[in-house]
Amino acid sequence: MYINGEWIKSDKTFSVFNPANGEQIAEVTDGSKADAARAIDIAADAFPNWSASTSYERSAKLYQAYKLMTERQTELAELMTKEQGKPLKAAMNEVKYAADFLLWFAEEAKRVYGETIPSARSDQRFLVRKQAVGVVAAVTPWNYPVSMITRKVAPALAAGCTIVLKPAESTPLCAIAVFKILEEAGIPAGVINLITASNPKPIGEEFCTNPKVRKLTFTGSTAVGKKLAQDAASQLKRVSLELGGHAPFIVFDDADPVHAAKGVALVKFLNSGQACISPNRIFVQRSIMEPFLITLGERIKKLKAGDGMQEGITIGPLVNQQAIVKVDKQVQDAVKNGATLHCGGQRLTDNNLDKGHFYAPTLLSEVTKDMLIYREETFGPVAPVIAFDTQEEVLAMANDTHYGLASYVYTRDLSRALRMFEGLQFGIVGINDINPTSAAAPFGGMKESGLGREGAREGIDEYLETKLGGISI
Ligand code: ADP
Repeated sequence: MYINGEWIKSDKTFSVFNPANGEQIAEVTDGSKADAARAIDIAADAFPNWSASTSYERSAKLYQAYKLMTERQTELAELMTKEQGKPLKAAMNEVKYAADFLLWFAEEAKRVYGETIPSARSDQRFLVRKQAVGVVAAVTPWNYPVSMITRKVAPALAAGCTIVLKPAESTPLCAIAVFKILEEAGIPAGVINLITASNPKPIGEEFCTNPKVRKLTFTGSTAVGKKLAQDAASQLKRVSLELGGHAPFIVFDDADPVHAAKGVALVKFLNSGQACISPNRIFVQRSIMEPFLITLGERIKKLKAGDGMQEGITIGPLVNQQAIVKVDKQVQDAVKNGATLHCGGQRLTDNNLDKGHFYAPTLLSEVTKDMLIYREETFGPVAPVIAFDTQEEVLAMANDTHYGLASYVYTRDLSRALRMFEGLQFGIVGINDINPTSAAAPFGGMKESGLGREGAREGIDEYLETKLGGISI
């Protein structure tokens, strides 16, 4: 753990495993509720000085962290592949994405503008300034174990906040590596604090009930996000949430079905489907179903599962055994209720894969509304395909979910693209685009997919309060 500028070890530890082969890779200090409380005290003590530093000073440190992370891209990516399982190339991409947030918010730090507002009274002036909200408690997930940290820490630091962060219990090593970079970049003692813990609950309780915490930022499942938001509401803490998704991927018959299928194959199996923006319901207009399924099937069969450190591996393991059980339950339910299984549909065990948590990349068609997979987030390497006939019908089907994070539309018709963009109740719409994400672009969900936006100009607002000065002259 890292508290008040010191690395802290205790005898109480928990193990971290490589999900590709089940091997233990490290023992990490197991933090307690009391550790979280101490870290919050320290962050509160560090707040006055840090928030009073100039944005130029904070920017320079973030820029230094960006440079260090870029220099260590390979080292961090290798650690990520060992700890989280994604293929090395994907891990390299994630480190780049993570570093982008450090650079972006090093720049945005200098653009926190205020306002003067005309008054109806000639002897009055209004002055508006933005200032740091205070101590931030952050909880991050295991699926993007480096970039989900910088996406929160960079804007918080840029705004002048101090932080206590708890990473996911399966990926604390990536968090430790990120904090080492921040420390080396010169972030002062007490400004950033890291609590590693095997049991997130007591830490979450402290984060939500300690009055010194003024802002809670969370990325993870909708169930946990709702619970934390409810608990934090008792003190009206500011809350940002990035939660689950159930992304529709809509392919109209005026699009090239082969191109669209290649897009699905690329984005669906990224991180083995363990992404909140992963397409979870693939709607294909009936007349192009056949060429679409042929291409998607061919692409899926080419995926190679295994240890992401090995050359040529394109799909890594799932996070744990429960994930395998959940994914398989959705697949078996779909098949039982009439879906066609084109490939996959079981755990992978050959070639030593039984030592890890591998599920075969799976293609299902003829998926219907009464199947679990139609309603629930999968978080696994399964592509469920659903036929549709009209634009109206597919828009209604796509919006028929309590999630609202990402969505995708493939069409060559400009009017249709715009109507879908406007009609989809999702925070992100990829139009003929499988990667609508960037540090420069606002990421976040509608409905039960979250509150607030990360990245972009908006990202820093989540860590700022608006203060009005009314002045009689
Ligand atoms: P997933 O199901 O994808 O693992 P979770 O929402 O359980 O998603 O986990 C995301 C993050 O939330 C992790 O850091 C995890 O430790 C944390 N977490 C889980 N339960 C709680 C809780 N009750 N309080 C605080 N954090 C929690």
